[in-house]
Amino acid sequence: MPAASLRTIASDHATAPAVGNDGAAARPAGAPRPARKRPDAGRGQGQWALGHREPLNPNERMKKDDDGLHCRSRIENIYRYTGFDGIDPGDLRGRFRWWGLYTQRAPGIDGGRTAVLEPHELEDPFFMLRVRVDGGLLTTDALRTIGQVSTRYARDTADLTDRQNIQLHWVRIEDVPDIWEALEGVGLSTAEACGDVPRVVLGSPLAGIAADEIIDGTPAMQAILEKFIGTDEFSNLPRKFKTAISGSPRQDVAHEINDISFIGTVHPELGPGFDVWVGGGLSTNPMLAQRLGVFATLEEIPEIWKGVISIFRDYGYRRLRNRARLKFLVGDWGIAKFREVLETEYLHRTLTDGDAPPVYDGPRDHVGVHLQNDGRFYVGIAPTVGRVSGKLLTDLADLVEAHGSSRLRATTEQSLVILDIEADRLDSLQAGLAELGLSTTPSTFRRNMMACTGLEFCKLAIVETKARGIALVDELERRLGDLDVPLTININGCPNACARTQIADIGLKGMIVTDADGEQVEGFQVHLGGGLGLDAGFGRKVRGHKITGDELPDYVERIVNSYTASREPGERFAS
Ligand code: SF4
Repeated sequence: MPAASLRTIASDHATAPAVGNDGAAARPAGAPRPARKRPDAGRGQGQWALGHREPLNPNERMKKDDDGLHCRSRIENIYRYTGFDGIDPGDLRGRFRWWGLYTQRAPGIDGGRTAVLEPHELEDPFFMLRVRVDGGLLTTDALRTIGQVSTRYARDTADLTDRQNIQLHWVRIEDVPDIWEALEGVGLSTAEACGDVPRVVLGSPLAGIAADEIIDGTPAMQAILEKFIGTDEFSNLPRKFKTAISGSPRQDVAHEINDISFIGTVHPELGPGFDVWVGGGLSTNPMLAQRLGVFATLEEIPEIWKGVISIFRDYGYRRLRNRARLKFLVGDWGIAKFREVLETEYLHRTLTDGDAPPVYDGPRDHVGVHLQNDGRFYVGIAPTVGRVSGKLLTDLADLVEAHGSSRLRATTEQSLVILDIEADRLDSLQAGLAELGLSTTPSTFRRNMMACTGLEFCKLAIVETKARGIALVDELERRLGDLDVPLTININGCPNACARTQIADIGLKGMIVTDADGEQVEGFQVHLGGGLGLDAGFGRKVRGHKITGDELPDYVERIVNSYTASREPGERFAS
């Protein structure tokens, strides 16, 4: 279908081609990337496997001084009594991350000062606490506990993230041991929620309940968690390591932007299993993951996962933080060498070749009411930009239980899915959700917008994001009502792209811009036409499309009106 798409619009004004990284043209998902030679390729990059064990930067020094996981005992035995002022700086700004704790930004420091102040000048004596929700698996008991912890210890704050985590703010170090006790009592953990470690394992929100499921990856995820998370085998990686597993044909875990992904497919002789991808990631050097060309059975996933993360630990670059993700190693080696090293040095066997599964060509989210494989229904809701509260989570847990269910799932779009609802309870549940402000039929603006933490709490932020996103949704609904096609708008407070700047229809990267009066104000660089799935590729930066925060509603309205005026029948927003 020809397209007056966002990428078409963007191409008229592009300052750079659609980029995978380093100016390379965007590729279809899974297409091989030619190996590149970097000017510094001959210099030591701190790779352990090549004998470089001396720390080459302060982060590596901090990790060598003590395992990040060890700071838990100091929190439980020392810092809970000394309070913030007694915390060792290496723990405070480094190792605390291994237990999901970041210092948060002090209120009242504007984004223009982010780059000129030292980290300690930006922080206040409270913490963000990230609760990992592997596979997005939540019980009502777990959700209620998070809600109660939030209300009691975190000023009732809670955000759903795009990696199925839930984040709380305003946490005091004195309360962290009690919070852990409450969370761990319902099977939740903050272990390795942040830091240079294997992070939360993404899973299909429909695992085990989808009528069209190829295979349920949950047992493999649980095996990884039991064997490898919270152990010293992988608690010192060059940087974070992101995993995704989905046996759904919807491919609903953003596999193109994870370090390793397992995506459901069917082998002609071996039956259902997984296609393996490696080397994806966004941030300031975005790269799409590449197919390893391997078919993995469910039972093989932990072994292959261990092999790949071991390569990362041993061969990953440790000199420069901005070159330390797995994607750089995969990019430099090429996929053939990566697979060869995996097979010969780590697995000591040849893996089974596999073909690419069909690319899912539809919305990957799960909003609305849908039939499960057992005749009951799942109900997807999209709290605006993932912003909720402790009370809302507690009320939601009560509501779900009152309708005969005890299971929910977090998604990779800052949303939630309620499982196991009988047909005759749907109307009542939807009415209850509406009373909580949670619609099962939100506008495309409310359904598809994501925002990162931003200036409210993040020390790296340049602009405000969450409140701006909520206001933008309200204003777009007021002006435009709804749109009959999906439109993703991702608002990011800085270039780090935690809310996926480059893969949104309209990706917004926070920066300071000059307004019409010559004043320096919060604003955004716009990226147009990014996406995953069939249209996987990074949005283009558009010349002149730097807008102030106040101009955002007018800008989006113009883009939407331009699309609706020129589209052809059946044309998607981005294509
Ligand atoms: Fe913070 Fe930047 Fe990430 Fe937003 S994108 S959460 S501002 S680091």
